[in-house]
Amino acid sequence: MFNVTIIEQKIGDRQGQEAGIGFGDVVNELDKKYDATGLQEAIQNNARRIIYYQQPDGLMYRLLRANFDGLPSADLLIGADRIHSTIRQLVGAPTGRYAGYVSLRGTINEQELSRQTCEYFSDYVVPTDDRNFTPGERLINFVWYYNIADSSAEMNDVFSDINRKHHRKTVPVGLVRLGIWEKVRGPIQIAEPFAEVLAKVKSPFVTNINDSIRGCAYFYDDKVVLVGDAFASFRPHVAAATEQCAYHSNSLERVYVGQKTHETSEDDVRRYARQMILLNRIIGYLGRSAFFSLFKSLTSYIIFVLWQKLGRRKVP
Ligand SMILES: Cc1cc2nc3c(=O)[nH]c(=O)nc-3n(C[C@H](O)[C@H](O)[C@H](O)COP(=O)(O)OP(=O)(O)OC[C@H]3O[C@@H](n4cnc5c(N)ncnc54)[C@H](O)[C@@H]3O)c2cc1C
Repeated sequence: MFNVTIIEQKIGDRQGQEAGIGFGDVVNELDKKYDATGLQEAIQNNARRIIYYQQPDGLMYRLLRANFDGLPSADLLIGADRIHSTIRQLVGAPTGRYAGYVSLRGTINEQELSRQTCEYFSDYVVPTDDRNFTPGERLINFVWYYNIADSSAEMNDVFSDINRKHHRKTVPVGLVRLGIWEKVRGPIQIAEPFAEVLAKVKSPFVTNINDSIRGCAYFYDDKVVLVGDAFASFRPHVAAATEQCAYHSNSLERVYVGQKTHETSEDDVRRYARQMILLNRIIGYLGRSAFFSLFKSLTSYIIFVLWQKLGRRKVP
């Protein structure tokens, strides 16, 4: 049994970003094992070959916090404060590599859309933050990718919010300037269900897409550990970030119950991250028709898989 203190940047009841979050079996198993609220519910998505669940980010955050609040003090420092993490900087990890595009995402209530469009997007449905699962009252989750050159005037413009405050990674929901969203969705010729969603979404939020991996997970005689995006952040196409967080939790537990050493745990999380980074790059480059980069990532992925098949533990 451990004592845990959460040192959270945002105090009080954090609002969600009005985004759905997809996850798979690793998160689901972890929920079943540790969730004391009994409320971990998500909509199961049947469109993928793997079992895949969807939940709004605000609901997920509140359920996870409900399992911790009220417990006192801790003595292992777990850096779970994402890619631009303070803990990451303290241990000298590199910042993420910008992928050349941003995402605009959000949710829209089924009530605001035509029946045909709701049916078309039935695999992108999430419950509401207050756990409404009623068909016709749930949310459709959407992500729109948009290319922007790094450090360009347009990048600067997109990441300046309605108050002209500049954001580094995400302009939160409600703060994106209307002109930006109008420009992104404006001139596109697109099939009707997509057009309807784009036309009706009022306030998406913007995030720049990057990926990064830190070579080591443990620091300072294993008293500091990086997990989640603070250890490795992927492009979002495989929706594996929350799965990675759950994988890190399981791996950390095994170290502390003596089933793994710090070294094997570090090898495992590094291997998982490397695979996800490459897979996400392949999908991202394919979507953007960046064939040379696609070829490079595919080659790296094949080398990675062969390396594992040869039984090499260290990631190339
Ligand atoms: C377009 C898009 C779609 C995505 N879709 C999915 C999806 O479907 N499924 C999925 O799994 N992932 C998805 N992701 C990725 C996912 O949102 C993140 O990668 C994931 O939430 C990272 O989890 P984390 O716990 O590492 O960090 P976060 O969830 O960002 O949590 C970090 C926490 O640290 C706190 N914090 C930050 N700085 C400090 C500080 N200095 N002091 C104290 N606290 C601090 C923050 O307040 C926050 O609570 C998507 C990402 C994008 C861009």
